[in-house]
Amino acid sequence: MTAGKKLKVVVCGGGIGGLTFALALSKYPNVSVDIYEAASRFSPIGAGIGIWMRVWNILSRLGLDELADKTFPKPSNDPVHAFTFRKSDEPEGIEYYNLMTKGPFMTFLRYDFQKAMLEHLPRETKIHYSRRFTSYTRLPSGEVHVSFQDGLQVTCDLLVGADGIKSSVRRVFLEDLAQQAIHRGDVEEAEVLRNSYDPVWNGTEAYRGLVRVENVRSLIDEGSLKIPEFPTQYMGKNANMIIYPVANGTLVNIAAFRAQLHLANTKFEGPWVTPADPEELLSVFEKWEPHARNWLRCLERPTRWAVHTVKPLKSFVTQGVVLIGDAAHAMAPHQGSGAGQAMEDAYFLGTLLGHPLTTAKALPYILKIYDQFRRPFATDVARRSLLNGRFYTFNEDEFDYDSCYQAEKQARLKKKGEAISENWAWAWSTSIDDDMGKAMAMLKNHLSDSESSPILPANKQV
Ligand SMILES: Cc1cc2nc3c(=O)[nH]c(=O)nc-3n(C[C@H](O)[C@H](O)[C@H](O)COP(=O)(O)OP(=O)(O)OC[C@H]3O[C@@H](n4cnc5c(N)ncnc54)[C@H](O)[C@@H]3O)c2cc1C
Repeated sequence: MTAGKKLKVVVCGGGIGGLTFALALSKYPNVSVDIYEAASRFSPIGAGIGIWMRVWNILSRLGLDELADKTFPKPSNDPVHAFTFRKSDEPEGIEYYNLMTKGPFMTFLRYDFQKAMLEHLPRETKIHYSRRFTSYTRLPSGEVHVSFQDGLQVTCDLLVGADGIKSSVRRVFLEDLAQQAIHRGDVEEAEVLRNSYDPVWNGTEAYRGLVRVENVRSLIDEGSLKIPEFPTQYMGKNANMIIYPVANGTLVNIAAFRAQLHLANTKFEGPWVTPADPEELLSVFEKWEPHARNWLRCLERPTRWAVHTVKPLKSFVTQGVVLIGDAAHAMAPHQGSGAGQAMEDAYFLGTLLGHPLTTAKALPYILKIYDQFRRPFATDVARRSLLNGRFYTFNEDEFDYDSCYQAEKQARLKKKGEAISENWAWAWSTSIDDDMGKAMAMLKNHLSDSESSPILPANKQV
C-alpha cells in the first residue's frame, strides 16, 4: 500500500468472527474489507448461542442494540441468577447451586445473530460467496497474494483467517511459520507447528437441537416437562446437558454432551456432524432424572457433533496474515465463549486497524499487539472451558458421590459450584476495554514515533 491509499484487507470466512470484524472496520474510511466465504449463501449452523455482557457491550458499540429484542434474558449489568446447576444422574436430581453473575448469559438463535450482522454491513463491504480459500504467498512488496479454489486470485495488505475450526488459512499459515523455522535451522519447531495443523477431538460428543414450546405444550401442562426458570446445567458422571430458552421463550435450546475423556486426543472416526440417533442419545442419559430425560425425548431432528479443539498456538500472526476466532483457538463449548472470543478478536483487531494513522507500514506492529493481548487471553479461556467440562461431568477428581454421606455430598457439590463460578468469573467481572485501552495507547505511541521519523529505527522494528 502506498501513502494515501486505503489499507486493503481480505477476510476468509464470513462466520461470526469474519462478520464482526468487517462490521468493526466499517466505520473506518482508511480500510477496505472484502469477505470471501466458501458457502454459496448465508447459512448459520447450530441452534442457540449465548453471550455475556463483555461481548454484548461490543455488539452494542457496533450498532447491534436491536438484537436486545431477540435475546432472552435482556442485557443488564445487575446481579442475576444466570444458571442453575443440578446433579441429575440419579432418579431424583439435586439442585445444588445458583450461579449468580453480574449481567445475564444472553441467549439467541444463531440465525438472528448473523442476520443482524449482515444487515448492518455497509454496501461497500463486499461478501463474495462460493469462494473457498486455498493458499497464500507473500510478494516482495510485502503484500499477500491469496488464491481460491475456483482460480480467483487477489492481493491485499492483510489476510485475515476467520475460516473456523477446520481453517485452511491456519494450515497454510502454520506451514509458512514452519518454513521460517526451518530457515532459522529450527527443525524441531517446524515439527511442532506442523503437528498443530489439525484440530484434535477432546473425547466429547454434543447432541444439539431445539424444542418448539407450542409442540410440547400438553406435556408442560400435565407436568411431565418443565421449562426451567433459569438456564440450567444438568450434570452427571461423564455426561451433561444445558437447557435454555431462545427466541423470546418460543423455543428451548438443548445441548447434551457425552464425555469419554480416555478418548481425548485420539482420532474421531467418521463425519464430525451427523443426524443423532435418539435411542443412542437416551442411552447416554439412561439412569438420569426424568426431568432431564423428558427433554431429550422431545428434541426435533437433533444432530451429533464431535467436539474438536485447536492446539494452543505459539502465534496468531505472521507478516501480513492473522488468525481470528476458531481458526486461532477453537475451544470446548463449556463456557459458552467460542463465538464471544471470536467477536472479541474481531473488535480488538478492527479497532487497532481503524486508527486514522494506520498504514501498511504499521501492520507488523498492530499484529504484534493483537497477538500480545488476544492470544494469552483466548488461550486461557480455552483452558478454562475444558476445565468447566471436567466439572460438569464429574471428572475433576476421583470423589465417589455414590458412597458418601448426604451431608458430605451436599458440601462437595457446593464446593463444585463455587469452583465453576471462580473458573468462569472472568466472563462477567472483566471488560475488554482494559486491554483495548492499553493496546491503543501502545499503537498511538508507535504511530507518533514513526510519524516523526518515517523510517523506523532498528530497535522499533517488530
Ligand atoms: C455445541 C456447541 C455449542 C456452542 N455454544 C456457544 C455459545 O453458547 N456461545 C459461544 O460464544 N460459542 C459457542 N460455541 C462456539 C462457536 O460456535 C464458535 O466458536 C464460533 O462459531 C466461531 O466463529 P468463527 O467465525 O471463528 O467460525 P465459524 O462460525 O465456524 O465461521 C467460519 C466460516 O468460514 C467459512 N469457511 C470455512 N472454510 C473456508 C475457506 N477455505 N474459505 C472461505 N471460507 C471458509 C465457513 O463456511 C464459515 O462461514 C459453541 C460450539 C459448539 C460446538
